[in-house]
Amino acid sequence: MADDRDRPSYKKTHIGKHRLRPESLMMGYGYDPALSEGALKSPIFQTSTFVFESAEAGKAYFEIAYGLREREPAETYGLIYSRLNNPDLEILEDRLTLWDEAEACAAFESGMAAISTSLLAFLRPGDVLLHSEPLYGGTDYLVNHILPEFGIRSVSFPAGQPMAAIEPGIREGVGDGRLKAALIETPANPTNALVDIEGLAALARRLGSADDPPVVMVDNTFLGPLWQHPLQHGADLVLYSATKFIGGHSDVIAGACLGRAEPLDKVRTLRTFIGSGADPWSGWLLLRSLETLKMRMTAQMKNARYVADFLTNHPRVRCVNYLGLMGEHHPMYGVYRRQCLSPGSLISFDLEGGEEGAFRFLNALQLIKLAVSLGGTESLAEHPASMTHADVPLEEREREGIGPAMIRLSVGIEHYEDILADVAQALDAI
Ligand SMILES: *Cc1c(COP(=O)(O)O)cnc(C)c1O
Repeated sequence: MADDRDRPSYKKTHIGKHRLRPESLMMGYGYDPALSEGALKSPIFQTSTFVFESAEAGKAYFEIAYGLREREPAETYGLIYSRLNNPDLEILEDRLTLWDEAEACAAFESGMAAISTSLLAFLRPGDVLLHSEPLYGGTDYLVNHILPEFGIRSVSFPAGQPMAAIEPGIREGVGDGRLKAALIETPANPTNALVDIEGLAALARRLGSADDPPVVMVDNTFLGPLWQHPLQHGADLVLYSATKFIGGHSDVIAGACLGRAEPLDKVRTLRTFIGSGADPWSGWLLLRSLETLKMRMTAQMKNARYVADFLTNHPRVRCVNYLGLMGEHHPMYGVYRRQCLSPGSLISFDLEGGEEGAFRFLNALQLIKLAVSLGGTESLAEHPASMTHADVPLEEREREGIGPAMIRLSVGIEHYEDILADVAQALDAI
């Protein structure tokens, strides 16, 4: 994108040779006020369908939407019907590509819609899916209960270990199966265990077919789009629950898939026929959220550092999982330095007193709310073993270190001394 001279003013990413950062482009990029009576902000295009300027134009739009012919280099998707596209979604998709430096993006009605549509775009009966463990609860259910009914087998490997430690198990698990996709969640929820994206992508490509290589997808919900850019580490697609940091105000459910134009076209086509795209109102809310994304995620990360330090030194806390506390001698430290731009704002920790101690802590909180979800402006705490991860079999939970004494904390943008005061008094209640 070094030269944007031929682009319209609302799609410029440079001033002369000076490259503008994503946070500076979140207020205007992709939106042309001249198309909306000069309105500074994009209206909500609350319409199901669009009027074609001529029959020929309508024909051309459908040829592209249904893949009947290749798109000309400068040809865009014409507006047809809001299940296929809508201006609020197109502006949102354009803005989201900037953070991850992706060629294309598709917005979905939920994170699960983005994940399921993307997996179904590339997997067929008899194929093998390789995935990290633990996975988000909904993704875990999809992979272990629903995809097998369609003849799609999955092979898992544990997050938090170097490639040399997991490669033999992956090779054995895949065997002579047809590996068509890999799904990585890093950092893992709720343990913050990392996966080496570059190493895993390279191994998946070695184990797949050279003519039809497996698609490597990364669920980047925990650190993205600010603090981790999987496409730069060899991933083909990045997936988001936009419900979390991107939305950031705990008031919208949405998702996104980003990557190179070619795999994205396949995902978009399936989105059209499954009907899993986001609606204009969600798109508009996310446009508003994106304007403060960097400020919010930065404030949350700064607060989380204070909370993690406080917890580490507290006598009632047995251990703290926070990327910012990872020591130089940790086997995944190199991966952390290479892959993550910040430790983010999710912390999990084990308390004294098992489930009883954890419940006393949660019930005593006054400022921090007891709720699942994460990444919003408010701090949220929950109990993974009995809530978000209740469905994960006990042996698997134990293997992953998700015990009865664990709390997960998503740190918000409140004053850090207020968060610390609440955590301190709740710890006293154990
Ligand atoms: C929340 C979440 C999802 C699911 O997203 P929804 O928007 O709730 O459908 C997927 N992956 C991760 C890591 C999540 O945290």
